[in-house]
Amino acid sequence: MKKVHNYSAGPCILPREVFEKAAQAVLDFEGSGLSILEISHRSKPFEAVMTKAQALVKELLGAPDHYQVVFLGGGASMGFHMIPQNYMKPGGKAAYANTGEWATRAIKESKMFGDTVVVASSEDKNFSYIPKGFDIPGDVDYFHFTSNNTIFGTQYKQFPKSPVPVICDMSSDIFSRPVNVADFALIYAGAQKNMGPAGATVYLMDPEKLGKTGRKLSPMMDLKNHADKESMYNTPPVYAVYVSMLTMEWMKRMGGVAAMEQRNAAKAKLLYDAIDRLPIFKGTTAVEDRSMMNATFVLNDASLEPAFDALWKEANISGIRGHRSVGGYRASMYNALPIESVQALVDVMEHFATTHG
Ligand SMILES: *Cc1c(COP(=O)(O)O)cnc(C)c1O
Repeated sequence: MKKVHNYSAGPCILPREVFEKAAQAVLDFEGSGLSILEISHRSKPFEAVMTKAQALVKELLGAPDHYQVVFLGGGASMGFHMIPQNYMKPGGKAAYANTGEWATRAIKESKMFGDTVVVASSEDKNFSYIPKGFDIPGDVDYFHFTSNNTIFGTQYKQFPKSPVPVICDMSSDIFSRPVNVADFALIYAGAQKNMGPAGATVYLMDPEKLGKTGRKLSPMMDLKNHADKESMYNTPPVYAVYVSMLTMEWMKRMGGVAAMEQRNAAKAKLLYDAIDRLPIFKGTTAVEDRSMMNATFVLNDASLEPAFDALWKEANISGIRGHRSVGGYRASMYNALPIESVQALVDVMEHFATTHG
């Protein structure tokens, strides 16, 4: 099989050994003679997968014992819709930081349910930085932010201090670095950026902060219901949960989240150093807010793009065209991307700079 350096922003690269085990389980799940795709979600072997996946989320992130993990379908975007319902009192208020497309969508959903205050925003500069030093009022029901901005390539290096429960969309940097879970009422993430295939969203939450609003909820929208039913209120996304479990096992074998952070820091340094060293390229975000996961950059002379595109395609690099709202390039360097792939891109950039600079 051709070796491709996969920089896709999501769904994205997963470890090769995870793909091999996942492929095997489709044919014969743990020697049962049955496919993982044809067994009941309530069968003992799948219940074991779910239990293990839930435990690994908590173990990898060092979550307090009483926190609960739920896997649901619907994507992180369903989370945008569920959060105000589960955490905002009727007639209450919520505070949001707006640092990009996904935060904007979360705000839009919150506005459907009540007063939504945007306490910080970087929209004035096309979301190219992380707002700092803002105040979160004490009279809101919760504060929501997006830890890593997948599209614009910015990332919080320090999390805002909040007098109210904090909810974080960590879709594109969960498991990329250690976090103090006890600081969050809820961390949620779509699987397809660092954890597994599309189809599952993980919710890691403090059950003491759930079910407190007095709002009448449909059972499908009620996080407490899903937690009480161990993610089995309805059929969970079984295969996405299984492959996520395999990826989490891989992370654990690799040394856990602290080891992931070291790998990610080395990869990010390699690429950002090249962006800064080669005058033909320019980063699109504030240097101190640069994401370790998604590096965005442009060619100073956009007319050179076709020539650059031809070169990286020839080097079997895939998926570095920027999102349409930023243009240029975006190199997504999720946990599973090896540093060799980053070196391959840097080699291409250097070659291009010497021949076109
Ligand atoms: C991709 C992404 C989402 C959307 O996830 P879906 O699973 O497509 O709903 C939300 N937030 C962030 C930060 C993302 O990167």
